Amino acid sequence: MVTIAEEWLNSCSGCEIAILNIGDVLVDLLPQLEFVHIPVLIDKKYYGQTGENKELDIPEAVVGIVSGGVRNSEHLEVLKKMRERCQILIALGTCATDGGIPALGNMYSLQEIKDFMYRESPTTVPGPDPDYKTYHIPEAFETVTALDEHVKVDIKLPGCPPHPDWITAAVLALLDGKTELNLPERSVCDTCPTIRKSKKSAGDLKRILECPEFDPEKPVDDMRCLLEQGFMCLGPVTRAGCSGMTGTAPRCIATRVPCRGCYGPVKDGALPIVDYVGALSTVGYDPRKMVDRRGFLCRFSGAHSVLKKIG
Ligand code: SF4
Ligand code: SF4
Ligand code: SF4
Repeated sequence: MVTIAEEWLNSCSGCEIAILNIGDVLVDLLPQLEFVHIPVLIDKKYYGQTGENKELDIPEAVVGIVSGGVRNSEHLEVLKKMRERCQILIALGTCATDGGIPALGNMYSLQEIKDFMYRESPTTVPGPDPDYKTYHIPEAFETVTALDEHVKVDIKLPGCPPHPDWITAAVLALLDGKTELNLPERSVCDTCPTIRKSKKSAGDLKRILECPEFDPEKPVDDMRCLLEQGFMCLGPVTRAGCSGMTGTAPRCIATRVPCRGCYGPVKDGALPIVDYVGALSTVGYDPRKMVDRRGFLCRFSGAHSVLKKIG
């Protein structure tokens, strides 16, 4: 029996849905697993049922699974407690491994975000910033950070959300006593069956609103590489794995849509901005013509100080 504690920090709950999407296999595995803590499914009061405890309480578990990154003081407190209570810590999803979508906020200062949220947004009645102390709400940090910027992470399962196959593989490996299961450092391009022929650009860069050229009657491996067609496909700088262990084409490419980078950088420490500008130049595009360069290239990887406010 393996005990599991699951937590969600700056998270949308899509990663928890991915756990449920394991489907029948999860039902088969359940007799060997005991979820001792999973707030998304089971109500749990962190400070005791009536708030009687002074310290945050999370039960001990062999495996801790955490989705979402760290944006505020509560996230950090819960994360540190999870690390303390769990023998093996899994970062689930690109928010946890690389900041994910919320880390796009790192392009702005916290004050700029508050100014927009509480005063400048067209649908907001202007008011002051919330007073954290008066209302006992967690204090927001200046930036969104990934889990490994605060604590040791044993297994990283990126993806927005991760493919259920990888979650299953991690659970099976853990049941087998193995604690090593990080995805291979390959790019989406390495697993993409599209035709790359000319290594030359097809004119100007196109945005996703235009339809690529392909024959709907033919399989995806009959389609010309979307980057060569002029679409800003992030396959070259994104970690492979989104089709799980099915051996099929990357999920978006299979539906003839360019990769948006949801599995994060190909490896720890990679700089997608620099690498992608290189990939564009190789095919003959002018990177300066990219719209919203920083936001597009760091859409899922804004933590680890990749995105910084300039000036
Ligand atoms: S990685 Fe994606 S699915 Fe998971 S919490 Fe973040 S936004 Fe949601
Ligand atoms: S750039 Fe996109 S379409 Fe082209 S090979 Fe890479 S993943 Fe496939
Ligand atoms: S093709 Fe890219 S954006 Fe689409 S699911 Fe795979 S990694 Fe994510």
